Amino acid sequence: MFPRTESAILIEAARQYGTPLYFYHAERIQYQYESLKQAFSSWDVRFFYAAKALTNLHILQYIHSLGCSVDCSSINEIKIARKAGIPSDRILYTSNSINFSEIEEAVLQGAFVNVDSLSALEKFGKRFGNSYPVGIRLRPNIMAGGNLKISTGHAASKFGIPVEQLEQVHALVSSYNIQVRTLHIHTGSEIKDAAIFVQGVHLLLNLVADFPDVRVIDLGGGFKVPYQPGEKGTDIHAVGKEVATLFSSFEQKTGRKLQVWFEPGKYMVCEAGYLLTTVNVIKENEALTFAGVDTGLNQLIRPMFYEAYHHIENLTNPAASVKTYQIVGNICETDTLGADRELPTIREGDLLSIQNAGAYGFEMASQYNARFRPAEVFYKEGALQLIRRRETLDDLLLTQEGL
Ligand code: PLP
Repeated sequence: MFPRTESAILIEAARQYGTPLYFYHAERIQYQYESLKQAFSSWDVRFFYAAKALTNLHILQYIHSLGCSVDCSSINEIKIARKAGIPSDRILYTSNSINFSEIEEAVLQGAFVNVDSLSALEKFGKRFGNSYPVGIRLRPNIMAGGNLKISTGHAASKFGIPVEQLEQVHALVSSYNIQVRTLHIHTGSEIKDAAIFVQGVHLLLNLVADFPDVRVIDLGGGFKVPYQPGEKGTDIHAVGKEVATLFSSFEQKTGRKLQVWFEPGKYMVCEAGYLLTTVNVIKENEALTFAGVDTGLNQLIRPMFYEAYHHIENLTNPAASVKTYQIVGNICETDTLGADRELPTIREGDLLSIQNAGAYGFEMASQYNARFRPAEVFYKEGALQLIRRRETLDDLLLTQEGL
């Protein structure tokens, strides 16, 4: 088990770069990737880190240096990945609700492309015929994921082509002679139950006979990581074992050896990240004690948007007696980062760390209330490196014109 980053290192980072500060621990990312490789070592599996979780160039470069490929959800993510030095044969593009011109650009960049609507498939067929392979994202009608907002495979989801429309898929494939190389599903995020992944595999393996060009089954991302102390994440070893068993028996029956792809986002970077924040104000009312900090939902939206639990520690007064706090942000909305938290006595000026902040933390940050987005620091081989400076007023005004 990889231990939590030592408080002294987090405190030093905050001392050097100020707060609010996103801190990422490189060796934790490496540990996560190695554990995936190990869990899936019995089959031909390839991992594409879902860049949407955290796109800083240094993080992408580092993940690439570990041997991991990258999954992008926009053309800009592809361009950022290319800028990080990632070659196009290591980039996958999984689009949804985008203008077809973006798919054309992704093809021009040489990325693997998954399309997720009949409309995009038809345009792809018209434009590229059988000259460029494509993946098809299906909607498997599987309800999974930690929260409805991150459940993407169910029958009311906007994502993917519903499996009920397979006849239309086949009609398009044959009329444009489309080369379908990949069948893809991503049923949701924070899927704890290994059986959900198995259900997806069964569904896709049952369809593959009708897609003779398919070489890859892409099972998307969605591995859950623990958030609460003592909580368990997805048993990736159980998923790895099942995947190997199902795909090898499929190979024995059909003579087809399929490669498996995964697109882990949260699993790769979530636990490597901490949002460090200073307590500005302690406010007592009749029933509650608030610790008001120098960050908020503009910089970590997950608690308010997904009701996500992020464990919080008091780094600078750890041995004090415990009290119950509402950890609240500095934004003009209710932005509770942690409700009813038992923490060692918090004083104004104390430094708190908000854990599991590596995925969808900075990446979903905004400039709401005209506050600067935080700096980001990367901790690697015992050294701290600033990988994004804190914004300034000039940054806030940069794109405004006409005054
Ligand atoms: N792949 C696709 C298509 C996604 O939409 C997402 C998340 O939204 C991911 C992968 C990554 O999911 P996670 O971070 O839960 O692993």
